[in-house]
Amino acid sequence: MNKWLVDDWVNECALKPIKYFTPTAIEKDTGISLEEVFERLMELVNDNKLELYWRIVCPVCFRQLYIYKSTDRIPRYIDCVECGKQQVTEDMIFPLFSISNEYREHIKSLKKTFNTLVYARLLQCSKTNQS
Ligand SMILES: [Zn+2]
Repeated sequence: MNKWLVDDWVNECALKPIKYFTPTAIEKDTGISLEEVFERLMELVNDNKLELYWRIVCPVCFRQLYIYKSTDRIPRYIDCVECGKQQVTEDMIFPLFSISNEYREHIKSLKKTFNTLVYARLLQCSKTNQS
């Protein structure tokens, strides 16, 4: 199931110090179509595992200018340090995803529990081997 591969990518990402990621990053890593990736990510947003943000990129120099949580907050004009005032158009707005704090903590605690279990088992096995 492709959507599970997207989930795997997200869970792995939760253990890394990554604040935001793009659907394109998952498309590149997994080979799953952008539509499918996006569809699954939106399901994860509805499930509160992810948060959706909007990134505004300068149409001239492609510098990332701002990140907004809601599309309502996006202004009509935006300033680029290099290129000056730019009118915000649809093709300057890109979706970004962020793992919610709650879900990140959940994944970290799973990992911790698993490591603790494996470590305990290793210790047990090494003792058995010695005797
Ligand atoms: Zn610019």
